[in-house]
Amino acid sequence: MSQRRWIRRLLIGLGLVCLLAFGAWFPGMGRSQTPSHIAMGTGGAVASVDERATQIGLEVLRTGGNAVDAAVATAAALGVTDPFSAGIGGGGFMLIYRPESDTVITLDGREEAPATVKPDLFRDPDSDAGENLPFFPNRISSGLAVGVPGTPLNWATALERYGTRSLADSLEPAIALAESGFTVDETFASQIERNQERFAAFTSTRDLYLPEGDVPPVGSQFRNPDIAATYRRLATEGVNDFYRGEIAQAIAQTVQAPPVVEVPPFTVWPGDMTTGDLDRYEVRVRLPVKSIYRGYQIYGMGLPSSGGITVAQTLKLLEGFDLGEMEPAAALHWLIEAERLAFSDRNAYLGDPEYVDAPLAGLLNDDYLAERRSQLPSTAPVDVANFRAIAGNPLPYQRDPSPSLTQPPEVSQTYEPGGISTTHLTVVDGDGMAVSYTLTLESTGGSGIVVPGYGFILNNELTDFNLDVPHPNVPEAGKRPRSSMAPTIALAPDGSLLAFGSPGGSTIITTVLNIAVNLIDFDFGLDEAIAAPRLSQRNSGITLVDQGFELTELGSSLLSQGHQLTTAKEIGAATGIIVNSEGMAMAVAEPVRRGGGSALALP
Ligand code: GLU
Repeated sequence: MSQRRWIRRLLIGLGLVCLLAFGAWFPGMGRSQTPSHIAMGTGGAVASVDERATQIGLEVLRTGGNAVDAAVATAAALGVTDPFSAGIGGGGFMLIYRPESDTVITLDGREEAPATVKPDLFRDPDSDAGENLPFFPNRISSGLAVGVPGTPLNWATALERYGTRSLADSLEPAIALAESGFTVDETFASQIERNQERFAAFTSTRDLYLPEGDVPPVGSQFRNPDIAATYRRLATEGVNDFYRGEIAQAIAQTVQAPPVVEVPPFTVWPGDMTTGDLDRYEVRVRLPVKSIYRGYQIYGMGLPSSGGITVAQTLKLLEGFDLGEMEPAAALHWLIEAERLAFSDRNAYLGDPEYVDAPLAGLLNDDYLAERRSQLPSTAPVDVANFRAIAGNPLPYQRDPSPSLTQPPEVSQTYEPGGISTTHLTVVDGDGMAVSYTLTLESTGGSGIVVPGYGFILNNELTDFNLDVPHPNVPEAGKRPRSSMAPTIALAPDGSLLAFGSPGGSTIITTVLNIAVNLIDFDFGLDEAIAAPRLSQRNSGITLVDQGFELTELGSSLLSQGHQLTTAKEIGAATGIIVNSEGMAMAVAEPVRRGGGSALALP
């Protein structure tokens, strides 16, 4: 049996072991294990974390809408059924493949810092030592953390440029869903439960999500008439109302004076976003990051997301190794070490391109990559628990004589915990247009602050900034915090198209890498590539793995090579679609993670 087949069997077997032995620990396991996480058809397909949202997207395709129309309708529905991960109070990045021009467009709808923001954004004014406010709960549940939301303008821009339907039409199904209500499932209830203390601190959030003072029971009906009215307002007044009208005023007021209960359980710091900040917001159409990996053209999201660049850099480092022909543990070792090096560069150099001259050409330069590849260790670094890879110096490889670019910056190598928020949806239509869209509020439940009377939660995206100066990702006025979101589209040498992505904070990057390597190097089907166990190395002592993985033969093999493994409850909740050269699409969502997702296709 070839090594490729061996690793395929081993990982799929492992996936099964992890699911059977530890499935009970996955959120929502045993509840909505829908058999509809895989679907095939030639008329278009949708995959998202939620069946109701996927159905809405599919209905748009069935009635003649294109992939962008369906993606926006699906996202709007997720703002109702998955409001703790996605919604108009947040931001995101959308990749669109246009078959007529064979091009990939990227839309940057990332949140933006208000005009008063400075590097000391989260400094505790009462700390003589100049310390920052505690991350939880003060930073994440504050007006300070709220960035100007990009999602509504992202939808409007995508529809105007590449869609066929109006924003009003695209919001209609979600309005109906919010008005008529939907059944509370375990994911919805558990996300409220996890946030109960924060949500109870705000009158608006408490009233909406803790009716009768408690988490709505699984199986009960949930309605959100306020978000229905807000969507309807956007439909009639246009997206301008969100940035320049009544909704803009309500957002600025909420950020400046969060609606806290009489005796809040923690201090809630206000921010100072103004209507001027909302007025200035724009969605940016950007070039994708393109790389070639073993003949596949990989398109990813560029800055301010680090996603596309770090995925591309890791893959290019791996191109020096024939992973498919190696023993499985050896292949995964190189994946871990390539991720570690790529993350050291990401952490040192990447930030909002409007503010930072990030050395992208150098980072993806073949000679620089060869130098970095030669630094990959053949076994885990000695004292791996305390080991941090040092960023390389791509600047001399830029062929840029600018004197300011001759020295690498000195920055701290911060470790970011992997989040479990955010959501990714994938759509293709019958004409071959594809959308890969990741959107977020940052934490699950964002800032925890519902805009009173408008039914949506504000993000806390500004916690994605780095606070140790100097750093390319330090908070600044008008700047977008560096993201890890990595919606991906790939064109295979055999003419098929792949679109996929995932939530998960900085583990988004490693989840996308797991899926890409599973598909390209290990010959997995897309369903197997998504269901397989994941591991995530982000330049820290530990490598995060799915529960159960560390007890397997492959896990012990990595441990015996000196790697340190720690388990995580959830690494990503991916969706993806592959369309072969004959136009047959296979849409795939998670079978188990985050309660299982939903894929549907038109015949
Ligand atoms: N704020 C994160 C980012 O943009 C996404 C949040 C998450 O997925 O947990 O990278």
